[in-house]
Amino acid sequence: ITVAALRETATGERRVAITPEMAKKLRGKGLRVLLERDAGRAAGFPDASYADVEFADATTVLGQADLLACVLPPDDAVFAGMREGSVVVGQLRPYGAAGRIAALNARKLTAFSLELLPRTTRAQAMDVLSSQAAVAGYRAMLIAAEASPKFFPMLTTAAGTIRPSRVLVIGAGVAGLQAIATARRLGAQIEGYDVRPETREQVESLGAKFLDLGVSAAGSGGYARELSAEERAAQQQALADHLKVFDVVVSTAAVPGRPAPKILTSAMVEGMKPGALIVDLAAEGGGNCELTRPGERVEHGGVVILGPLNLPAGAPLHASEMYARNVFNFVELLVHEAALKPDFDDELVAKSCLSHAGETRFAG
Ligand code: NAD
Repeated sequence: ITVAALRETATGERRVAITPEMAKKLRGKGLRVLLERDAGRAAGFPDASYADVEFADATTVLGQADLLACVLPPDDAVFAGMREGSVVVGQLRPYGAAGRIAALNARKLTAFSLELLPRTTRAQAMDVLSSQAAVAGYRAMLIAAEASPKFFPMLTTAAGTIRPSRVLVIGAGVAGLQAIATARRLGAQIEGYDVRPETREQVESLGAKFLDLGVSAAGSGGYARELSAEERAAQQQALADHLKVFDVVVSTAAVPGRPAPKILTSAMVEGMKPGALIVDLAAEGGGNCELTRPGERVEHGGVVILGPLNLPAGAPLHASEMYARNVFNFVELLVHEAALKPDFDDELVAKSCLSHAGETRFAG
């Protein structure tokens, strides 16, 4: 079996789906590893760092791949270049991807979108949402610390005492909790907020205070559900009062398959301190702040709003190491007796399958 990866082509993408360490583990399973030349270079893995791996141009790689691992969805043309019946594994951005799914079906490819894995204990080792969200949360807080006009920690100096920054993290999922942990290491005074009640304990265990706004919206599968109009109004009213005290807000709120919930309105931003900063990690999904422009810096009444995109690509070495491990663990599920045989009775295989044998397997 040939397991392959290409150099990622999305703008700014520097990660790679197969690292030298994982290539070795794939080889150990008796699989052949074939990479496009320079596939790992931007992540910090030049071709020479891969042992016992073959390299070729993209067309050759696609023509020989039994399984293509990717970080982000490649152009649909890539699927057209693959052999009928071969397998694709990666973050295939399944929501609203009718065109991509059609391209996969046209080649009768079996595609697994790792974002669709259930968040179960068994799936943890393959959970790309978690591994990449941890990178995103960490980087979002560093970006905030860098862009803020204030220090994060308290400083007592001959030139006076500087009070610690007050930081609010909205959305205490994987990214939010990592953002909280990072802000804490930098010495800020932190509060965390989420609509899932179980996050209180998680926020507090990181040494942050839980901001209780009295709105609870646990959904299914450990995710939040979308708020009703009334709940949203109640949340915004309660939050508006609190926002005035914060120097930095990092927002990470998301609901799978839905646009990012709009939590921060223009009026709320106008009530913030001059010099305050919002880093909207949900920018990719439209943003948690009404004023966010994905990929841009917006200034509104003295408050700066940043909407950084694809944060994991900014720490490509560690992000790739974690991602490639997730991919390897998933590929292990698909290989039986040295053949690629997805077992659709396995929940992890069935639930992450986007298309198989020319048919769409994903309803959302
Ligand atoms: P996510 O990226 O979907 O959302 C980020 C956070 O935003 C979530 O905590 C969510 O509750 C919150 N949110 C949504 N709407 C909101 C709103 N209107 N206001 C405030 N906050 C809002 O979430 P995620 O980080 O992918 O994690 C989701 C869940 O999956 C969590 O329960 C997490 O513990 C769980 N999880 C389980 C496993 C596992 O067991 N394998 C692994 C990772 C995560």
